[in-house]
Amino acid sequence: MIETKTANRQSMYDTVMNQFHKTADIINLNPNIKKILGITNNEIIVHFPVKMDNGKVAVFTGYRVQHNNALGPYKGGLRYHPTVDVDAAKALAMWMTWKTSLAGLPYGGAKGGIQIDPRNYSDAELERITRRFTYALGENIGPEHDIPAPDVNTNTQTMAWIADTYMSTISTSERSQNQHVVTGKPVGSGGLEGRDRATGFGVFLTIKELVKSRGENLKGKTFIVQGFGNVGYWASKFLTEEGALLVSVQDAHATLYNAEGISVEDLFEHSSPRKGSIQGFTGAREIDPKHFFGLKCDILIPAALGNQITEENAYQIKAGIVAEGANGPTNPEGEKILLENGITIIPDILCNSGGVIGSYFEWLQNRNGELWELEEVMQKLEKKILQVFKKVQTEVAERETDWRTAAYIIAISRIETAYRQRGIFP
Ligand code: GLU
Repeated sequence: MIETKTANRQSMYDTVMNQFHKTADIINLNPNIKKILGITNNEIIVHFPVKMDNGKVAVFTGYRVQHNNALGPYKGGLRYHPTVDVDAAKALAMWMTWKTSLAGLPYGGAKGGIQIDPRNYSDAELERITRRFTYALGENIGPEHDIPAPDVNTNTQTMAWIADTYMSTISTSERSQNQHVVTGKPVGSGGLEGRDRATGFGVFLTIKELVKSRGENLKGKTFIVQGFGNVGYWASKFLTEEGALLVSVQDAHATLYNAEGISVEDLFEHSSPRKGSIQGFTGAREIDPKHFFGLKCDILIPAALGNQITEENAYQIKAGIVAEGANGPTNPEGEKILLENGITIIPDILCNSGGVIGSYFEWLQNRNGELWELEEVMQKLEKKILQVFKKVQTEVAERETDWRTAAYIIAISRIETAYRQRGIFP
C-alpha cells in the first residue's frame, strides 16, 4: 500500500538535504552559495475559512514554499493531500529548483498545497476551497513571480479556478494579461495542448532512451507502476504503445497483477469516475500490497508519493530500471541498496521534468498571445527532454557516477554560476 505515514513526511526533507549536501561536497560548492541554497526563501502558511455544503464553516491551512528564484520566477505545483505540510512543501520546492535548473528553464522552485483528502469534499466545496486559498495567497503568486501548476490530486479544473480567482481580484486593466499565473489550465482557457500528457511522456521517453542506449527496445519489456494518476496513466499508455507490458499497478487502495498485461485504457475508464482508485478492476487480480516491489519486471515506475522505496523494501526490487515519475520516491538508504544491486535510477528531476517543461511552453504561449498545436508541442517537448537526458548521460559517463548525482551536479552548478556572475545584493 502506498505509504503515507507521518514519520515519512519529515524524511522527504532529509532526503533532499542529503542529496544537496552530497552534491555540494562533490562540486566543492561555494560556501556562501551553499548557505543560500540550503534554505527556502519564503514559507507562506495561510489559514482561510470556507463555507461547506452543510452550511457550516471549516478553516483550512494552505502552504506555499518558495525555495529559490536565482534563475527566474518560482515555479511548481500545488497538491491536495493529507501529507502536505511545511516540511513536505520545503522538500518539494527544493526539488523544483533543481528540476527547472537541470532542464535549463528560466525558473526557480516552489511547491505548496492544502492538507486535505479531496475525496472528502464535493466539487462545489473544492471550488470554494481553491478560490479562497488563491485569495489568501494574494500577491504571493503571480505570472512573473510564482507560477503554480497541477500536482498530486489537483488538475486542469483546479488551475482554471485559480486563474479565474486571481484575475478577478487584480485591477481590471491587468486582467487579460495574467492568464499565465498558473500553468496546466484547460485547453479552452489558455491551457497548452499536450500539457496533460507531458509528465508521463517524459517518463516514457527517458526510459525509452535509457533502454535504447543499451542496444535494446521496449518491445516485450515488463513494467509495474505505483500510482495511477495523471503521470502513471500517461507513462503506461506511451510505454504500452511501444510494446511494453504493464503487469502490475498499485494505488492507496489496491494492488493489481496480471502477467498477461493490464489494459491501460480499461483501467483508466474504471478508475476515473472513482476519483482515481483502481480498486475493483476486473481485468487483473488483486494481490497483497507488500508483494508489489518484489514483482519480477524490467522497469519499476514509482508515480505516487515520496519516500516509497526505502531500506525496508529496496532489496526486494527486481527491476533493472527505476524511473521516478513521482518526486522523491526513493530515500538515500533505499537508493544505496538499489545502486549496490546494479539498478539504474532515472532520477525524478530528470524523469518527471516533462511536466514543468510543458508548463514552460504554456507560460510562453500565454505570454506571447499564441496558440500552439499538439504536434508542435510534442515535438518541442521531445527535443527538450532528449537534450536534458543527453546532458545527464554525458555527465554520468564523464564522472563515472550514478544518474542522480550527475543530474544534481548539472542543476546546482548552473545556479552557482548565476550567483557568481551576479553577486549578492546589496
Ligand atoms: N507538479 C509538477 C512537478 O512536480 C509540475 C510543476 C510545474 O509544472 O510547475 O514537476
